Amino acid sequence: MPQSKIWLSSPHMGGTEQKYIQEAFDTNWVAPLGPNVNGFEQDLENYLGGQVYVGALSSGTAAIHLGLLLLGVQAGDEVLCQSMTFSASANPILYLGATPIFIDSEVQTWNLCPVALEVAILDRIKKGKKPKAIIAVHLYGVPYQIDAIRTIADTYQIPILEDSAEALGSTYKGIKCGTFGDISVLSFNGNKIITTSGGGAIVTHSAALKEKAVFYATQSRDNAPHYQHSHIGYNYRMSNICAGIGRGQMEVLDTHVASRRLMHDFYVSLFASVEGIEVFRVPNSDYFANYWLTAITVDPIKTKGLDREALRLALESANIESRPLWKPMHLQPIFESYPYYGHQVAESLFEQGLCLPSGSNLTQADRIRIKDAILAIIK
Ligand SMILES: *Cc1c(COP(=O)(O)O)cnc(C)c1O
Repeated sequence: MPQSKIWLSSPHMGGTEQKYIQEAFDTNWVAPLGPNVNGFEQDLENYLGGQVYVGALSSGTAAIHLGLLLLGVQAGDEVLCQSMTFSASANPILYLGATPIFIDSEVQTWNLCPVALEVAILDRIKKGKKPKAIIAVHLYGVPYQIDAIRTIADTYQIPILEDSAEALGSTYKGIKCGTFGDISVLSFNGNKIITTSGGGAIVTHSAALKEKAVFYATQSRDNAPHYQHSHIGYNYRMSNICAGIGRGQMEVLDTHVASRRLMHDFYVSLFASVEGIEVFRVPNSDYFANYWLTAITVDPIKTKGLDREALRLALESANIESRPLWKPMHLQPIFESYPYYGHQVAESLFEQGLCLPSGSNLTQADRIRIKDAILAIIK
């Protein structure tokens, strides 16, 4: 009998989500506003700590789009963006008619390389245009080099859009990811650490900025009895039903983080004595990762011939999902004509990297299946 599929990362309900949805139905708040939207935003603000203001939106991508808009990005501007990321980090640059400038990763956090970033800024200024924003990502829940990137951003006075879509629950020096940007972004897509089935949020440091984001997200309606518009509007607000799921999910966020970290520990011990396979982990104790996905790199020279694709196919034949790392944006057909600063770090990570099943709902039986399938190929 074929065994059921083990997914990379699948939705994991905590149990109370339907209570909030029921309330929404009972009170007929079936709209992109309502008590769950306000409640979910409040829950997120409390969780993130500090003076932050959260606006719940229809997706993380929408949040990045509005975030860039609020940072003043316009057609013809340049925006610096980590190359190794999901395309949703970079697409909104093009929505605005701006130009993406892609930056390599460094080997410690796999995120924005401070050296390549500064080289790029200096070169763009020399060519006549100071970049308008820096999009920095916490890949797989591992924080980027927060201090180094902030120092550069402040030196050249370029704001940071922090893409924390994968890093809710991660911290750096005890401070939550999702609070480090001039504007920050969260995602609640179905595969993320918590989900609203689809959704996202924008995180700001002022009530006025949040209000502006919500204004744009609800069709930019001016204050008038009729429909009056003096700005381009968007339909980006989160629905009260989705926000109900979010409120239930917030009750289990910390246990989800603990479960994902348990999966990471499982892989660390599984590969501990395997020559040529490294589990991606934080560089030091300043960093705390939610390990949204556990990723490994497979060096076919050190493994004496086993590469990541062979490992992926072996898992696939055991009905276990795994996936190569994000293919860098500067290698994507849609983005390859834009400037790129760096070397081959992102490229070689892409060649050797593999994400392994990491869901918070994986069971001991799943771990045994994964372990057996991996041991069978690396023995
Ligand atoms: C998921 C993700 C997004 C986009 O979020 P959506 O809610 O799916 O639109 C953006 N950036 C990164 C790094 C992501 O992983």
